[in-house]
Amino acid sequence: MRCALLEKVGSPLVIADVKTPEPKKGEVPIKVGACSLCRTDLHILDGELKPPKLPLILGHQVVGTTPDGQRVGVPWLGKACGHCPFCKRGEENLCDAPTFTGCTKDGGFAEYMVADEAFIFPLEGSQSDAQLAPLLCAGMIGYRSLGFTEGAKKLGFFGFGAAAHLLIQVALYQEREVFAFTRPGDVKTQAHAKKLGAVWAGGSDEPPPEDLDAVIIFAPVGDLVPQALKAVRKGGIVVCAGIHMSDIPSFPYDILWEERRLCSVANLTRKDGEEFLKLAAEIPIQTEVTEYPLEKINEAVEALREGKLQGSAVITLS
Ligand SMILES: [Zn+2]
Ligand SMILES: [Zn+2]
Repeated sequence: MRCALLEKVGSPLVIADVKTPEPKKGEVPIKVGACSLCRTDLHILDGELKPPKLPLILGHQVVGTTPDGQRVGVPWLGKACGHCPFCKRGEENLCDAPTFTGCTKDGGFAEYMVADEAFIFPLEGSQSDAQLAPLLCAGMIGYRSLGFTEGAKKLGFFGFGAAAHLLIQVALYQEREVFAFTRPGDVKTQAHAKKLGAVWAGGSDEPPPEDLDAVIIFAPVGDLVPQALKAVRKGGIVVCAGIHMSDIPSFPYDILWEERRLCSVANLTRKDGEEFLKLAAEIPIQTEVTEYPLEKINEAVEALREGKLQGSAVITLS
């Protein structure tokens, strides 16, 4: 089968022919229709997260079809052990021995993949595979992050990429106000955020017009943590939604003082995924995607890296 292979950290992905994977017990083979690119793929590609194996097929926002014709989605959490203390507590996102799609096992930038049958989601609806793909990580892990904001009415997003595009729709549906912070000077994305319903949009170096109840940081930039703490009111919450972030600079205690909380969100549970898909259908969430054929995956990587995309880059397999 054709796939995009990560052979060496820091090098472009290589389009290659490899052996089609065989499902083991409890796994299903999936013919991939589309797989959306995530910032995490870039972190692995660039070596900020060390790939557990090489060569590796990246991609963990997969939409495809099983042999019996069921359309399914494959998320980042490929499998959890089910018996570690975290799994037993219902925190399978923190499992001690997890499988991560497109990381500890091969993912969806390929014609075929195999997935654990207990960790995939059936997908209904008339949207294309490409339109649904970003729901599988940007949407699901974004949704988990939103839960950590505890019903905040005035909500800031630092970084207005794939996840924020989806989460603003959830936030507005839940009658919250969204304040969008972009790269300084990125007036195009700021205008786009306002078009999607943000009450305010500005650079991450600007203070919001009023104190916020909570902020979610989507951008992998540690410098944003003190900025976000300054943007929230007493008792406010700052959630770091990414899997990797550059170092956080030291900051004066008084921006954390007064019961402000700083936390991170890791991975997802199946419950997050099920709840989010239900909500996505109810709203209904519209994704904005730029489609690339597999052969042009490195162009998609560069577009994401440079912040050129509105919404998500999706690789389509034909
Ligand atoms: Zn992801
Ligand atoms: Zn476990």
